[in-house]
Amino acid sequence: MKKCMIIGCGGVASVAIHKCCQNSEVFEGIMIASRTKSKCDALKEKLQPTTKTVIETAQVNADNVDELITLIESYKPDVVLNLALPYQDLTIMDACLATKTHYVDTANYEPLDTAKFEYKWQWAYRERFEKAGITALLGSGFDPGVTGVFSAYAMKHEFDEINYIDILDCNGGDHGYPFATNFNPEINIREVSAKGSYIEDGKWVETEPMEIKRVYDFKGVGEKDMYLLHHEELESLALNIKGIKRIRFFMTFGQSYLTHLKCLENVGMTSIEPIMYEGKEIVPLQFLKAVLPDPASLGPRTVGKTNIGCIFRGKKDGKDKTYYLYNICDHQECYKEVGSQAVSYTTGVPAMIGAMMIMTGQWNKAGVYNIEEFDPDPFMEALNKWGLPWEEDFDPVLVD
Ligand code: NDP
Repeated sequence: MKKCMIIGCGGVASVAIHKCCQNSEVFEGIMIASRTKSKCDALKEKLQPTTKTVIETAQVNADNVDELITLIESYKPDVVLNLALPYQDLTIMDACLATKTHYVDTANYEPLDTAKFEYKWQWAYRERFEKAGITALLGSGFDPGVTGVFSAYAMKHEFDEINYIDILDCNGGDHGYPFATNFNPEINIREVSAKGSYIEDGKWVETEPMEIKRVYDFKGVGEKDMYLLHHEELESLALNIKGIKRIRFFMTFGQSYLTHLKCLENVGMTSIEPIMYEGKEIVPLQFLKAVLPDPASLGPRTVGKTNIGCIFRGKKDGKDKTYYLYNICDHQECYKEVGSQAVSYTTGVPAMIGAMMIMTGQWNKAGVYNIEEFDPDPFMEALNKWGLPWEEDFDPVLVD
């Protein structure tokens, strides 16, 4: 029996679990293991009557390697799909090594006390994974994830060399709250309040947070302000895609979101430095998370679409070429299908597909790899089949 253990039971995991249950030919068994077991049980209760996939649940503290090893040894999954938080990446990788089990995640490791977003900690596991004969697939969400698959596909089929990549992440959704984040607020706010950066001629260029702004007219959404952010896939794509001169990442934000964020920043609520409050140490950003709407509750309220993709510029047969690959996803359609909005959906579907690539042996090489290092074709086919169809444009408007 082919089995997958999913760690975490939040917004992204819930979508991935729905998708595994739709795909029971591959996912014959799944175990949902997370910190709060009642969430895992509730999902099992909802989904078991609808699927042939045999669902089991467990409580686990993914910060504890020994606990993870015991659980993995008892369930014996073919692959562990890590959909907890980036802080747990290394403990879960350690447990996978100890049990010789394949590993998949959607976000790179981050230490709790510094918002850094670098692959170095996980790339340091390469030799150990190779020796153990197991695969670690890093970054199988949308961005990172599908953006890497799009890049590998463009490289394989459309270009001899790619010189410029602009990744554009547009969320045209409206949840009706004055301020809320579409996924884990702590991760989201750490990401957007960090300095921006991009890679040019092999070097990182740093910007102030939100310093570089552009306006873009997104198909399916319309005109939006977007800002240059640091994003983790820039680091791996700059190494893995031939001929890169510059790679940037832009994300859309509305003025109201930015004004709220600025205010929260100014009063110290987004800080990750612990402070003493009534004799107890608290982290302001974690406290803020506790008072913001739960991203999982945004599903029924969010209307509109997301449009995420990559604009490539490079050369084919000696001639200049541009190519835009993107996906448009509708918040309400996602909600009808799996009970979540599009931001969780666009991450959870590729997470399921990444695990499927490993379970079916379509992607099979020992070591630690970013997603663009595998053959993109079966993943691209699966995106169309499992709810994230892609579109192409051979004459896109470019970002200056
Ligand atoms: P949530 O906060 O909704 O879910 C996280 C889940 O992990 C929760 O169920 C939480 O448990 C569980 N968890 C946290 N700590 C532990 C622990 N120590 N042991 C066991 N379980 C734990 O986050 P999201 O679903 O929004 O995000 C999940 C991951 O996806 C994150 O790593 C995020 O960075 C990544 N992501 C990637 C994207 C991409 O495109 N690549 C886009 C969006 C997100 P509890 O229920 O008890 O809180």
